[in-house]
Amino acid sequence: MKLDILVLAAHPDDAELGCSGTIAAHVAKGHKVGIVDLTQGEMGTRGTPEIRLKESDDAAKILGLSARENMGFKDIYFKDDETHQHELIRIIRKYQPDIVLANAVTDRHPDHGKGSALATNACFMSGLRKIETFQDGVSQEPWRPKFVYHYIQNNYIEPDFIFDISQYWDTKVASIMAFKSQFYDPANDEPASFISSPEFLPFIESRAREFGHRIMATYGEGFTVERFIGVDDLFDLK
Ligand SMILES: [Zn+2]
Repeated sequence: MKLDILVLAAHPDDAELGCSGTIAAHVAKGHKVGIVDLTQGEMGTRGTPEIRLKESDDAAKILGLSARENMGFKDIYFKDDETHQHELIRIIRKYQPDIVLANAVTDRHPDHGKGSALATNACFMSGLRKIETFQDGVSQEPWRPKFVYHYIQNNYIEPDFIFDISQYWDTKVASIMAFKSQFYDPANDEPASFISSPEFLPFIESRAREFGHRIMATYGEGFTVERFIGVDDLFDLK
């Protein structure tokens, strides 16, 4: 099945935290959007891989995704190497996305920068005819996405463009809250983590408001690009 947008995320919940408003906006426009999580987040302080897979499915329904799957790479230990690149090339060729949204180029969690580099490399390599990959025993055609944009997640990065998610803020929050095991819940007696603090969701909101404010909207999500974006109509810019 071809996707218009493929979101690659080092951990289940990265896509929701970084770009779920943008995802919801494009699903509403009729685009087919899917998320592929690289790991099950099994090194996270809270939850289990089984719980996080169930939470990922719940978030997928909230966002109206056309596909969601998990690569099962090792959390923390996966590498931007030939083995992982080829696995990801198989996914890119399978879904043939025009646009890929990838992790932040650098962030607090080292998997985010590593996942970002892996995504960028795999998107380029996927266009190389001489790299052969197979899906269900069938040789795949080369495919290079037109654009790779990086969503900003934990650490502040000055964005290259900001997407107005004001209409989709509630959907974003609902998709984040689908990951019940990860966020603040007074009834959860698992150890506290960086993101389970009651301060975390207000932080997510303040970031979205800061980005929104910069484009005269209520809420926004910021992205960086690795090459210039061209325009042919100045009236398309907001
Ligand atoms: Zn993460």
